[in-house]
Amino acid sequence: MKETTDKAHQLKISNLSKDFGKIQVLQDVSFSFNAGTSVAITGPSGSGKSTLLHIIGTLEEPSHGHVEINGTDPFKLSEPELARYRNAVVGFVFQDHHLLPQYSVLENVLIPTLAFKQQPDATQLAQELLKRVGLTDRMSHRPAELSGGERQRVAIARALINKPSILLCDEPTGNLDTTTAGTIADLLFELHRAERNILIVVTHNLELAGRFENQLKLADGVCTLEKGNGR
Ligand code: ADP
Ligand code: MG
Repeated sequence: MKETTDKAHQLKISNLSKDFGKIQVLQDVSFSFNAGTSVAITGPSGSGKSTLLHIIGTLEEPSHGHVEINGTDPFKLSEPELARYRNAVVGFVFQDHHLLPQYSVLENVLIPTLAFKQQPDATQLAQELLKRVGLTDRMSHRPAELSGGERQRVAIARALINKPSILLCDEPTGNLDTTTAGTIADLLFELHRAERNILIVVTHNLELAGRFENQLKLADGVCTLEKGNGR
């Protein structure tokens, strides 16, 4: 599924609007990003940050406009095709880790590999990812036996196991203390540089947002794009 040309790794949003009945959340949002770039989404609570992330991640449909990822409009796919596509193309990290408590760290990371085609080397890949996030000695632990920062490391490894083109993170450091939040952000950037995916992170932390190459600011349904410092 990993493709090599620039065009194949593109996210394009055109004239996207989203309303929930009378609530207009996003109005005529357009932008496009290529592989290897990083994007922070900021804005007040209720401004539509999570909604935008969910639409990019194909969990929610736009009311108007188009989403194109790697040359495909996912909302034109059938339900089973969309499920397969989502599993392969996007990875999610949420504010709450969403790990399954009854499974070990290693098993949690393997979950996205079980839904569709079996990958023969999945266990090895999961072990490598857990090494990269610094959890080699925690693989057989249950989520309850880990710290908050460690749980987010597992969630990040799980999100990357299928080598997604786009990694979507919704306030991934929102529940962590400042120091732990900093190390998790560093880890996200490090993995992003290695994987060359599109990293999109919703954050309230403006200092963190300043480290991204692009900043999408949401307010009153309108989205403005600013260039950040880049890390
Ligand atoms: P943010 O993540 O920026 O805090 P959200 O994207 O979660 O904002 O929500 C934006 C607005 O859309 C809010 O007013 C919220 O109440 C509304 N909203 C979000 N999801 C739904 C939904 N499934 N049904 C109805 N309204 C929703
Ligand atoms: Mg939100």
